[in-house]
Amino acid sequence: MKTNVFQHLISHTGVPGITSLFPYLHPGAIVMGGVYSLNYPGSPEYNFHHTNDCEELFIALVSNGVQRPFGMLAVGARTHEVDNHTGPQESNPDAYTVALVIQRNKEKPPQREVFSIYCPNEECKKLVFRKEMDNFEGEEQPYYPEFKTVTVLGPDAVNEFNQSDRTCHSCGTVLPHFPIENMSWSLYTRQVRLANRARADYERFLANQSASKSALNSNPGAGAGHSADGGQ
Ligand SMILES: [Zn+2]
Repeated sequence: MKTNVFQHLISHTGVPGITSLFPYLHPGAIVMGGVYSLNYPGSPEYNFHHTNDCEELFIALVSNGVQRPFGMLAVGARTHEVDNHTGPQESNPDAYTVALVIQRNKEKPPQREVFSIYCPNEECKKLVFRKEMDNFEGEEQPYYPEFKTVTVLGPDAVNEFNQSDRTCHSCGTVLPHFPIENMSWSLYTRQVRLANRARADYERFLANQSASKSALNSNPGAGAGHSADGGQ
C-alpha cells in the first residue's frame, strides 16, 4: 500500500492537520501520521505538552519560514512541547510545514498518552491541567478505527480544560481559552464517528432489506393475501 503525503493533505480537516496516512492503528501497527501546519488569518496559536509511551519519529518533508529544515529528522522526547510550529500569523503569514510523525503502537496495554498544559507565566511554569489516557481503553469504532491521539487526547482533553476555571492555582494566572474550534481535531473526531455511524446504518438497511426479501420469498402470496384478507 502506498500513498502520496501531499495529495493526502487535501483530505485533512483543518490546522494542525494530523491523520494516519494508512488505515492501520491496531496494536503493534506502525502508525504513519501526516502532519501539517499553516498560517492564515485567524490561524490558531496554542501550546501544550504531549507525553507518549511510544517514541515519535519526526521527519520534516518541506516547510517555509519554520525552524524545521527539509529532511530534518528527530526522535521526540517522551514528553515534548507542541505548538503550531509556524509562529504568529502576523509575523510570518506564509509559514507552513508538512511532516511525518511515525510511531510504533505497543503490542499490549497500557499505551499511555498525556495532554498537559503548563502556566505561561515565566516565573511560575507550574502544571495547570493534565489528562491521561490509555489507547487500549475506551470505545472502539466498529468499521473505521479512530486515531485516539486526535479524538481522545485532542477534543476531550481540551473541552475539559476549556470548561475548567483555567486558573493556575500557584500564581493565579487565568489561561486563555484553548482554540479548539479552529483546529482539525474536532472535525476529524466528528467525521470519523459519522463515517462509522453511517456505515452501521447502511449495514442495518441492507440487513432489513434482505430480511423482508426472504420473508416475501418464503411466502410469495403474503402481500396479496393481506389485502384480500382486509377486503373480507
Ligand atoms: Zn502559574
